[in-house]
Parts: sequence; C-alpha cells; structure tokens
Amino acid sequence: MKKEGKLIVVSGPSGAGKGTVLKELLDNHEDFVCSVSATTRAPRTGDEDGVNYFFISKEQFLQQIEQNGFLEYAVYNNNFYGTPRKFVEEKLAAGKNVILEIEVQGALQIKKLFPGAVFIFITPESFEVLCDRLRSRGTESEDIIENRLAIAKKEAPNALLYDYIIVNRDGKVKEAADEILACVKAESLKPLANRDIIATYFE
Ligand code: 5GP
Repeated sequence: MKKEGKLIVVSGPSGAGKGTVLKELLDNHEDFVCSVSATTRAPRTGDEDGVNYFFISKEQFLQQIEQNGFLEYAVYNNNFYGTPRKFVEEKLAAGKNVILEIEVQGALQIKKLFPGAVFIFITPESFEVLCDRLRSRGTESEDIIENRLAIAKKEAPNALLYDYIIVNRDGKVKEAADEILACVKAESLKPLANRDIIATYFE
C-alpha cells in the first residue's frame, strides 16, 4: 500500500512571499501539490478562477458546508474561505504531500483533524522588512498597505502556535523552499509518524 502523503499548513502575513516560496517548491518537487481553496471574496486583478481560488457565491459556499464539502473553513475579512475536502483526501491517499495556504482559524481546525500535519509560519526577517516589501511592490494603495500591516501585527503572535517558522529572506527563496522540505522530513521521522514500523515488532 502506498504511504499516505503529509498535510502541510502554511500561513504568514501578506507580503511574506508565501506564494513565491511555494511555487519554487511545487515547480521542483512533483510529490507536492497545493490545494485550491474556495472563497466568496471577489477576484482581484490577475486572479484566475480554479487556479488561485474557486470563486463561488455565499449560497454555494453555505451549501458546500451543509454537504460536508470542506475540510475546514473560516470567515476572514467578511468573506468565507474553505479547503475542498475531496481533493485533499484523494491526493493524500495517492501519497502526495498536500499544502494548504490558509489563515490561523483554519489551521487550528486542521490541527484537530490531522494531528500529524506540519504547521509552518512564513515571515520576512522583521516587521520593518515586511513594511518595505509591501511598499516597494507599488501595486496597492497606502490604505490597503496600512491595513495589511495592521493585520500582520495583530496576527504575529499566532506564529507561536505553529511547529516551524521559516524566514523568507530577500533573494533566498530556494533556501526557504528547502527549509519546508526539511520540516516535512523532520516530521516524517517522528515516532508517531512511524507507528506502523513499531507495530511490526508485535505481529
Ligand atoms: P486573500 O484574500 O488575501 O487571498 O486571503 C486572505 C487570507 O485567507 C490569507 O491569510 C489566506 O491564507 C487565507 N485563506 C486562503 N484560503 C483559505 C482557506 O481555504 N481556508 C482558510 N481558513 N483560510 C484561507
């Protein structure tokens, strides 16, 4: 029987470069896949339905909750976000490592359901660097940037709930992706992840 893949939860502030690090990992490791969430928020410029998110109505979202279609879901900034259950369960069963890029309320739900999941918080090396990065992108208004920074400050203590913190330094995306691999490796060596081996002693 194929060994189940690992579930990996990745969170971190907007501007931490989570997307870039995950792309580096996914492009180079075909045993990793990323789940595409469903959301009721409106698409932003550049967002593609089915790629960045499945953009659905609130009615559709509530219906999927009723049908137990989500592994977890949360309300964030007045919008619903949820992880489609079927994709994740199928990929894990097929031995793929599945990445969920979600916020902390969802991460806590996953922790209850999958105690063996790996929880990773990605951040720049300091709040100052985060401020610089968001401003130098030049894509958002100062209002939006201020709002993102305020959210990042409020959510920073949640990092302590995660298993690992990865610092995504400027120009060091590969290093950050390699550290995700190292976290997954470390987790796979834990005794609880290897109960089947210990069980063979008693067969
Ligand atoms: P954004 O609207 O900026 O794309 O995402 C807002 C927040 O929602 C981010 O922190 C993102 O990680 C989180 N998020 C995206 N998809 C999901 C999901 O399926 N479940 C949960 N709980 N959070 C999600």
